[in-house]
Amino acid sequence: MNPTDEPHTSTKPVAGGAAATSFNPAQQRALLVVMPHPDDESFACGGTMALCAKAGAPVTFLCGTYGDMGRRMGLPPFANRESLRDIRERELREAAGILGARVHFMGLRDKCVEFEDPQQLAASIRERIAGTAPTTLITFYPGYGVHPDHDALGQAAVLAVRGMAREERPRLLAVAVGEPAALEERLGSPHLETHIASVSELKLEALRAHRSQTAQMFRQWQEGDLDPQMEQMRRRMVEVEEFYELDPDQPTPLERAAA
Ligand SMILES: [Zn+2]
Repeated sequence: MNPTDEPHTSTKPVAGGAAATSFNPAQQRALLVVMPHPDDESFACGGTMALCAKAGAPVTFLCGTYGDMGRRMGLPPFANRESLRDIRERELREAAGILGARVHFMGLRDKCVEFEDPQQLAASIRERIAGTAPTTLITFYPGYGVHPDHDALGQAAVLAVRGMAREERPRLLAVAVGEPAALEERLGSPHLETHIASVSELKLEALRAHRSQTAQMFRQWQEGDLDPQMEQMRRRMVEVEEFYELDPDQPTPLERAAA
């Protein structure tokens, strides 16, 4: 079945009796993904990006940093601290090409996004929103991004949308990172899901393009060396991508924690 044929209102019961709505790529005018690191996009929503691109919607990844403070250098190592920035930029451009997305870099310092002025970040995200007119913006769930850069850029994306006139706002979707059962207990079931089996090969190919980051993971998969949690993560990663819809006017968990 062509996933773009899924009716927008189709629902599927999930654990706990709640229902997640299917994300419908065919209804998107454009998609904007705002995340801090090369590879975030492929892991978190590469399937959704590929489906939107296939459906004809322009897809843009606004990438906060070059990920150049990462500690993975390839397997065997082929990067060093000096070369990593260019390598990760190249890898991201290759991955984005596979997913059918355009890439823009914000040029922030890796592992330091939380020290930026959130309103300034929001203003530059808003510029990109103005330039791409997305119907949907995907970012990390502030407070549930696990990495401080994920939380900080997710928060800035919420502020960006909050600062827009209601009728111009894109729908704001957030990716929560972590063990699904624990997340479900804190946040409830995800509100939307994209079934990505038809583009899982593209997603995997994009992940492989991030070779300085993912070589180790693919080797473990190949060797079948997965603990049950990794196996669950792998399965979810190539079958379904899940999102929470955020109301930008509500304080995020990150804001509530800081209050
Ligand atoms: Zn990341």
